[in-house]
This record gives sequence, structure tokens and C-alpha cells, in this order.
Amino acid sequence: MKWFNNFLTTLVPFMPRMLVGLIARKYIAGKTLDEATIEIKKLNEEGFLTTADILGENIGDTKAAQKPVQSYLTLLQKIKDAGLLSGISIKLSQLGLTHDVEKAWENFHQILMKAKELHLFIRIDMEDSPWTDQTIGFYRRARDEYENVGTVIQAYLYRSEKDIKEMIFDGPTNLRICKGIYREPEDISIKDKEAVRQNYFNLVKLCLDNDTFVAIATHDIELINTCEAYLKNNDIAKEKYEFQALLGVPVKKTMQKLLAEGHRVRYYVPFGQDWYPYSMRRLKENPSIAGYIFKDFFKFFRP
Ligand SMILES: Cc1cc2nc3c(=O)[nH]c(=O)nc-3n(C[C@H](O)[C@H](O)[C@H](O)COP(=O)(O)OP(=O)(O)OC[C@H]3O[C@@H](n4cnc5c(N)ncnc54)[C@H](O)[C@@H]3O)c2cc1C
Repeated sequence: MKWFNNFLTTLVPFMPRMLVGLIARKYIAGKTLDEATIEIKKLNEEGFLTTADILGENIGDTKAAQKPVQSYLTLLQKIKDAGLLSGISIKLSQLGLTHDVEKAWENFHQILMKAKELHLFIRIDMEDSPWTDQTIGFYRRARDEYENVGTVIQAYLYRSEKDIKEMIFDGPTNLRICKGIYREPEDISIKDKEAVRQNYFNLVKLCLDNDTFVAIATHDIELINTCEAYLKNNDIAKEKYEFQALLGVPVKKTMQKLLAEGHRVRYYVPFGQDWYPYSMRRLKENPSIAGYIFKDFFKFFRP
């Protein structure tokens, strides 16, 4: 079956956009803020927290970033007004990072100030490796003037342990640990799946052992179990960590079980017009997903 899934994965880039949209629907909470609000409310009612992400990345220039900035300001106000249990996740390339670093900072700062006023949390997503230094730099700069901010560290990068140690050394740190979704060169990234998993656990431990808040963002059941056992055996306080999952990945039962056991669980809820690159990454991220696509494809066309 593995070879078949691998084969299907190679076909994903050639799928018609409409078909990608249909299959990727379950990963996205709609195109509008109203649709996302409904999804977030539903998750909140089930006991989950959320982090809302307005889809979009690599905008044309920093001027084009004004639109996502306004959308994020509106989103923050909506979260407050509707009493949603949600923070936001944001990609710096959506704010113009790849064009003009200082302009991107000004854009980010507007959002940061609004979140500060409303006491809401901002998580800076981690993008591909050319932007790791800048992303960590933005995070460090942001946490100097605002507490409710965190960023993401990718377990597949060799540099991650050092990055975490440096951040922790400098002050209170709040990190989401994920495996990493981008295709990175061999000299900077771990390719062996088991080694990534091992590094992931080491990074989570590094945070927990240093009193650093960690969001354990993975759908890997074995890894979730290993982390959960560590939390229990070391009597880690509930407010020091949370589990996170992406909307649409079929791990709801595991997340419900974690909730029932008293852990905090947060769903990443992406929405917006700019759904295509995110959906393609979700669909391509590992060969077993191609199997899901194949099944979904037939489910969709079944009468
Ligand atoms: C909340 C959250 C935030 C994230 N933020 C970032 C970020 O800022 N930067 C970044 O680089 N990456 C981010 N990621 C993505 C992450 O790096 C991984 O690419 C992704 O989570 C898959 O890795 P995994 O840990 O779930 O392990 P995997 O070994 O890839 O997956 C574990 C199991 O989950 C299932 N699964 C995983 N993904 C899917 C899917 N899309 N559809 C169906 N089944 C699936 C597979 O069946 C597999 O068996 C984030 C992930 C989460 C959960």
C-alpha cells in the first residue's frame, strides 16, 4: 500500500484546483470570518480551545499586506466580541517579511498592539528555513513588549535545540513544537522519521524541564502517548502545556480523550480565500494522506 500512496502523492500537484478545494474542505473552516466563527464556537462548545489562522502567505509586496493586517484586526475584535476561546496564528510572509523586514514588523506590530489591548494570544507560525532567523527575531522583539506571544519550533531542523536554549536563556518563552512541513535541504534537516520523532520528544522535554510553556502540536499517536506519559510521570502542571491539532486531521477521538483526561487541547482553525497553498501542503505532507484523498475522492463521487 505504501508504494501506492507514494504514487498518489506524486499526482497531487496535477490535481485540478476545484478537486483540491473539494477534498481540502475538511481542513478549512470556510472562506469567511462568519463561517470560521461557527466552527470555532462548535469546537469551544466541545471543550476545545482554538487558534484562528487567516490563510495567506508570500504576499506580492508590503503594501498588499494591509489587507491581511486589517483582516487580523477584525478577527481579533470578533474573537473578543463573540467571547470565543481563541487566539490567532499568523505567518510573517503574509505581512510582507519576504519583501521588507521593517515594514513587515510595522504590520505585525499593529496586530500585536490590538491583541495586547484585547488580551489575546498571538502565535507566529514558522515557515521555511530562509525565514527561521527572522521569525525568531520577530518573536524575541515582540516578547520584549508583550507577554501573550509565542512562536513555533520545527523538530526536523538540526538547529532547533540551540534555538530553544537561546530563547529560554533570554527570558520567558512560549513555543509550539511541530515536526515541520516544508521541504528542507539535507544539510540542515533530519530526514529519518524516527529521528525527527526522537528530536521532537527531546525538544518538548527541554521546554518542560526549563519551565517553558509548550504546545505539543502533532497527530502522531505514539508521540502523543510518550509526551503524555512524561507529563504524568513528572507531575507537570496543566497550565505549562497544551496539545494541538490541525482542523480536519482525523484524530478527533484522541483529542477528545486528552480533553477527558483533563489536558488542554487546541485546534488550529484556518480559514479565508487564500486556501490553495495550505491545502496543497496538507495533501502532500505525507504519503498516507494520499490514501485519504483517494478514499475521499470516491466518497465524494459516491451517490
Ligand atoms: C497545531 C499545528 C500547528 C502547526 N504549525 C506549523 C508551523 O507553524 N510550521 C510548520 O512547519 N508546520 C506546522 N505544523 C505541521 C507539522 O509540522 C506537521 O507537518 C504535521 O503536523 C504532520 O506531522 P505530525 O506530527 O502530525 O506527524 P506525522 O507523522 O506526519 O503524522 C502522524 C499521523 O497523523 C496523520 N496525519 C497527519 N497529517 C494528516 C493530514 N493532513 N490528513 C490526514 N492525516 C494526517 C497521518 O496518518 C500520520 O499517521 C503544525 C501542526 C499542527 C498540528
